[in-house]
Amino acid sequence: LTRLFGPITQLSSAQASILTALVSFDRLFEVLDLKPLITDKPNARALPAGLAAGGSAPEIRFDRVAFRYPSAAEVSLASLESIAVAAPKRTTNALVLREVSFVAPAGKLTALVGPSGAGKTTITHLVPRLYDVTEGAVRIGGHDVRDLTLASLHESIGIVTQDAHLFHATIRANLTYARPEATDQDLIAACRAAQIWDLIAGLPEGFDTTVGDRGYRLSGGEKQRIAIARLLLKAPPIVVLDEATAHLDSESEAALQKALKTALAGRTSLVIAHRLSTIREADQILVIDDGRVQEHGTHDELLDRGGLYAELYRTQFSRPQTADDDIPAPEPV
Ligand code: ADP
Ligand code: MG
Repeated sequence: LTRLFGPITQLSSAQASILTALVSFDRLFEVLDLKPLITDKPNARALPAGLAAGGSAPEIRFDRVAFRYPSAAEVSLASLESIAVAAPKRTTNALVLREVSFVAPAGKLTALVGPSGAGKTTITHLVPRLYDVTEGAVRIGGHDVRDLTLASLHESIGIVTQDAHLFHATIRANLTYARPEATDQDLIAACRAAQIWDLIAGLPEGFDTTVGDRGYRLSGGEKQRIAIARLLLKAPPIVVLDEATAHLDSESEAALQKALKTALAGRTSLVIAHRLSTIREADQILVIDDGRVQEHGTHDELLDRGGLYAELYRTQFSRPQTADDDIPAPEPV
């Protein structure tokens, strides 16, 4: 824990609360380093109560968004008063997104598909305002995210990354840091819905089992289901999810699908989808390539069009399927 918490304690409490509000440890250090670039405007407002945590799900809108990652120089300058943990891996000046426009309807599932490097993850990073757009705007419930407080933004958005990292701590600590006042009953309900309760209940120490590198080893699918339980405890109206690509056995695959369905119900979700079953269930599919939305529609509409999606479908998703189509798609190269 000290390894992770050490640097955090040196941040201002505002920065630390923003970080812990984000339900993700993936890229923690990248975020730590970039955070100082992104601050509240002097007159920033909280996301209106109706749209914030516990409220109804707002629509997300990208308006002609262009984006390039900040250069190493910009980042280190902004980090001077903070703690420079890690420099960005790449320092390209190229636009990663260009003229990205779409609406993710309130309470609906929008799936992002496309080749590796297309810009899918970058799009999801702009919703919780991990970075600011270069041009255009990202709006939640009609509000430009730059006009909202980061605290309200991060309270309203739940993130589950591709490989969910857990703190080396008890399962209870891993679950409650997103909602410290949660009772054991709350935890059990969330874990049941996330299809992970049976496993936890079967452990000698239950919620007090230490997990992580030196603790009880959970599989990738189990870790993601704990992350989903954490998300359910947080109950955000917006969910950003990078679906796991790791091959799961068919039992945990089914458990994960069920957990995801519960987690996404009624929330506005952006899901980087790798599984045909998720893509088929999406209310809308955005096909991303070369930093643009190349096509959008439902699975059937896009197949009919015979464009990029149809091609991706043929090469990536259209493997021999079981009766219920639950075979995970191969990892994009
Ligand atoms: P996808 O999720 O579709 O695979 P990404 O959004 O991860 O695509 O990446 C889009 C482009 O942005 C790629 O060219 C990638 O190399 C670049 N990129 C991603 N993350 C960073 C970063 N932190 N700094 C600079 N460039 C990045
Ligand atoms: Mg990605």
